[in-house]
Amino acid sequence: MLSIIDSGSLHGIDALPIQVEVNTGERGELKWVIVGLPDAAVKESQNRVFSALGNCGFMLPISRTTINLAPGDLRKVGPIYDLPIALAIISATQQADLSLASDFLIAGELSLSGKLRFIPGAFNFALLAKKMGKKGVILPLECAHLATYVEGIDVYGMEHLSDCVAFLKRTKTVEPLKIPTQESTPLITNDLQAIHGQQILKRVVEIAVAGNHNLLMMGPPGCGKSMIAKCIPDLMPTPTLDEWLEILKIQSACGLHPETSQRRRPFRSPHHNVSDAGLIGGGIIPQPGEISLAHGGVLFLDELPEFKRSVLEMLRQPLENGQVSIVRSNGKLTFPCQTLCIAAMNPCPCGYFGNHQRRCTCSQRQIQQYRSRISGPLMDRFDLQLDVQPVDLSSFRESTPKGPSSAEVKKRIVSARKLQMERSHSCNAYLSAGQIEATCQCSQAHLVWLQNACQQLQLSARAYHKVLKIARTIADLEASSSVEQKHLMEAMQYRCLDRSWK
Ligand SMILES: [Zn+2]
Repeated sequence: MLSIIDSGSLHGIDALPIQVEVNTGERGELKWVIVGLPDAAVKESQNRVFSALGNCGFMLPISRTTINLAPGDLRKVGPIYDLPIALAIISATQQADLSLASDFLIAGELSLSGKLRFIPGAFNFALLAKKMGKKGVILPLECAHLATYVEGIDVYGMEHLSDCVAFLKRTKTVEPLKIPTQESTPLITNDLQAIHGQQILKRVVEIAVAGNHNLLMMGPPGCGKSMIAKCIPDLMPTPTLDEWLEILKIQSACGLHPETSQRRRPFRSPHHNVSDAGLIGGGIIPQPGEISLAHGGVLFLDELPEFKRSVLEMLRQPLENGQVSIVRSNGKLTFPCQTLCIAAMNPCPCGYFGNHQRRCTCSQRQIQQYRSRISGPLMDRFDLQLDVQPVDLSSFRESTPKGPSSAEVKKRIVSARKLQMERSHSCNAYLSAGQIEATCQCSQAHLVWLQNACQQLQLSARAYHKVLKIARTIADLEASSSVEQKHLMEAMQYRCLDRSWK
């Protein structure tokens, strides 16, 4: 007898429909055949399903059984078909009437005892189920809560194969899961006030977040570069529902377990030996990389010159476009990656060049070699560049003011972002050269001053526009409609590394 269960397969960050077909009672000796481009994990599924069925008191088929995962031209990976295969076998061998299953999209990995295990893509499968017009999804309880964010379908989280069968036989009632309650604003876990001194760095971080400007910090070890980077997600505006769902879609497809009680922006800090595919995305069935996992949040690249040159060069395009395209013989996949890139590096291999507290032991050649690992064009992608000074030890005295708290800074950032959205529907960092000139409302005299300053410092036309963008953001933080000379002057200070890269 033939039985069919609807399931799905992850293709990048989208789920595609898969039908699990099981046919039992075929002529020939007892044999299980799985067809439809299965990978090793899918082929092993028969052993898990075999044990789970036995341990839950079900009979195994006694004749030749064919399991087909359709469509046949789509590669299937992972153990997510265990549950639909087990249910289809129970139905095909007429051990239970599971006709209710046609209302659902079903996916889940089985343990040998029949317990259901976490699978990636719960949210993505729920989106697919909605698109297919299903009443709901049946998923392992461990990951099902992510699916509740998809409106208009019922999400059933199950712990055990027996629970699923009882539910589909209508001998057990199970209530659909409810969307978890969320705090309206996420709690601040890393506060700026915990960092002593570094007032200039804090100011630059505020500007970076307000206009979504990528930032490169160059400074000695222990000056607080990593600490301040960790504060950044909490400074960003709380994600809107649409932004939050997009973040969930990527994180869920990659098998991450984002905390759902708070809408927290991601913070990704890949190690410097990350591969091209690990950072940008890739694989046989392309998966998003770190840059996409940081979508809507922060990508922190510590020790920037230690990353492979090829990896860094691949970053350029995605940072500019806000999306990654991966081309394969069977088509192109695109992943979003609108992220704030924060990079940190030492000024030289030993870390103490230009430091008045300790002497640098590197030769001129070593320093040059170290810095040349970052190309000019990549350098250009960082709107803000700051030479961070070591922490002044006097800032540890109790009487020293600690500067504004993260909550205060966030408030200013939210207002500045609101102005940008009202004016041009995008953050200042994403404005084109023409747009930025139009939105600056700078007097002619100020523009001439800036052009002269750029000429004297031998800055490129691109750098000129970047200074304008940053000045626009600084003016937005003050709620000033026009860009004044003081804004331009401050912005000029944050292009300090342009000259040392010539
Ligand atoms: Zn040195």
